[in-house]
Amino acid sequence: MKLALVLDFDGTITMRDIGVEVIKKFARSDWDEGLRRWRASEFDQRQLMEWDFARLPSGRLSEMREYSLSVAVLRPGLTGLLELCRSNDMPVEVVSNGMAFYVEAVLEREGLSDLAFVAPTPTFAGLDPETNDPVSPVAEFGIGVETCERTGLCKCARAARLRPGGRKIVFVGDGISDFCIAEEEADFVIARSALKDHCAANGIAHSEFDDFYDVAREIESLLAG
Ligand SMILES: [Mg+2]
Ligand SMILES: [Zn+2]
Repeated sequence: MKLALVLDFDGTITMRDIGVEVIKKFARSDWDEGLRRWRASEFDQRQLMEWDFARLPSGRLSEMREYSLSVAVLRPGLTGLLELCRSNDMPVEVVSNGMAFYVEAVLEREGLSDLAFVAPTPTFAGLDPETNDPVSPVAEFGIGVETCERTGLCKCARAARLRPGGRKIVFVGDGISDFCIAEEEADFVIARSALKDHCAANGIAHSEFDDFYDVAREIESLLAG
């Protein structure tokens, strides 16, 4: 079987959700109102992202980057998993709804600059002083990247790109921005945390992981199967 691997970043590659930590520390104090609106189904994922990004201070990017590095700890086993993928000709892409500046910084620090990733780049355009709405665009997504209401940056579209050649898609993730790819696009879902619960509650076939050794074992058995 030919496979491709799509990896979530926050809470998957990293132990903690770096985006949440950055927003909690740097965003204007009303950031949590966005979370309330999302929980009340008044906001979709994309609106929540816009709410949060627009509340980050444009002049403190280097501080935010430093802080991200200080809270980023990698989940064990990633290097071995990437080696397994390389030796089996499996393309790997990190697809994140976090922020490109910290995904890039963390991967670089870990010696993983070669790992392909896509993530939104916040514009730090802030809020309209009259309406208090986010000034658009709040983020740039890059050429060839699609967006959707359910995730902001559409992980389904990224996965579909990797299919040519008959590859099946393995997706590894943990959170709400992973729901649509798990439901609609991935052939094999490896999940933890909120994504695991979502799969269980909705009858989506999945296996579970705590670290990337678990993920590597699962992929080995798919390759053998
Ligand atoms: Mg995540
Ligand atoms: Zn989508």
